[in-house]
Amino acid sequence: MPHKNTKIVCTLGPASSSPKILEKMIRAGMNVARLNFSHGTYEEFAKMIKTVRVLSKKLNTPIAILQDLQGPKIRIGEVPKEGIVIKEKELIILSTSHNVYATQHHTKIFPVQFRHLHKDVGPKDTILIDDGLMELTVKKVTGTSIYCEAVTDGIIKSHKGINVPTASLSADPLTPKDLKDLTFGIKHNVDYVALSFVRQASDITRLKKILKDKNSQARVMAKIERHEAVKNLEEIVEASDAIMVARGDLGIEIPAENVPIVQKRTILLANMYGKPVITATHMLNSMIENPRATRAEISDAANAVFDHSDALMLSNETAVGKYPLEAVETLARVARVTEENLQKYEQLLPFSKGKLDMPISNATCLNAVKLALDIDADAIVAVTQTGFTAQNIAKHRIYKPIITITGSEKVRNQLALVWGLNEVFVKKIHSKYSILEMTKFLKKDGIVKEGQEIVTVVNASKNEKRISTTIA
Ligand code: PGA
Ligand code: MN
Repeated sequence: MPHKNTKIVCTLGPASSSPKILEKMIRAGMNVARLNFSHGTYEEFAKMIKTVRVLSKKLNTPIAILQDLQGPKIRIGEVPKEGIVIKEKELIILSTSHNVYATQHHTKIFPVQFRHLHKDVGPKDTILIDDGLMELTVKKVTGTSIYCEAVTDGIIKSHKGINVPTASLSADPLTPKDLKDLTFGIKHNVDYVALSFVRQASDITRLKKILKDKNSQARVMAKIERHEAVKNLEEIVEASDAIMVARGDLGIEIPAENVPIVQKRTILLANMYGKPVITATHMLNSMIENPRATRAEISDAANAVFDHSDALMLSNETAVGKYPLEAVETLARVARVTEENLQKYEQLLPFSKGKLDMPISNATCLNAVKLALDIDADAIVAVTQTGFTAQNIAKHRIYKPIITITGSEKVRNQLALVWGLNEVFVKKIHSKYSILEMTKFLKKDGIVKEGQEIVTVVNASKNEKRISTTIA
């Protein structure tokens, strides 16, 4: 089967933890295993990581392991099991000092787990509960009581999520639980750490510093799911190693009809910076229950490929759904067919036309890509330590095979998230003799054949960036 360039991220859970099903998912096109730290125990995660690493080796398929931190998801506290019915226009209290549901002179008081919420909201703010199913308007705040009027009828149950699209919440994106989970992730050598509810670039740089101090090589992914993140989008993309368009929470924080626009803007920015970007959530939602996706879902997945996502993500579809394998197969088919169509128009993306004063390394990659098109090369070869060069070639999306040679097994796994990087080999190449050595290696292992034309890009050292054409 021909390679697909678009990568597939699968969230692991009870539906996909057994080695048997996981092996089938990898064979069907899964490239990244996402561990969602909002659910699950360390014991379960450790087992999943081990299974993925064993299968990855067995199938000789690099798989990136993505640790997704829960972040400061704000929730309702304990409420009677059946939930509490609210009527339109009813006045209720959200309290940051109560631990359980209570009433006071017939007014219903709901506990909120985030203890600062009363300081962050004020009259006229909109509070959404349960993925936006219930809408409240803040009337006044007295002490730790937030008085709200219900805009619609609804039921409030325990632990339902709270979003405040009209205010900026002070909740730190790295909670004490996240820090503890991070220690676990570092110990288990995860390849990416995703930070939820990022507000600004400094949230990312802070996490990067913690990882660096602990000698972790994990890369940091920013989840775009808050309205503040949309405002600070470019600085966040610049600071991060990878991006996720987290449409689930994003569609509550900003009007849902704005999500496709933010999706396109985020992907374009990530493409420009050469950072892998995932389009996530509700992609094949109906496949949690049904063996076939709806036309609209297929169309959404195809459009995410047309937008030039690096990867598409499955959440509940693979974590708890009835058809995890079929969901991966569906995305793989959509990616292949859509790419085949895109390939007919094989050309540089508009942003690749080039702007003056780009860094030498970026210009080198851009011109390697142009050269490969001009001479109709059989492949482009990137010799790279960090993967930077390979990512900066892949970002132009020209549908020529990209062969990557890196000295690091870790980088090989991390590049599993990046569009088009399907052939990554681990080999230490001395920069001084790089082209010769590389050609020898490629020929010996039969990766390229006599007579083929390849363009090679070698970032020999920090100061010496070269490009050359070689005939193998
Ligand atoms: P979550 O993130 O699944 O961790 O909430 C993704 C999203 O919000 O879309
Ligand atoms: Mn989310």
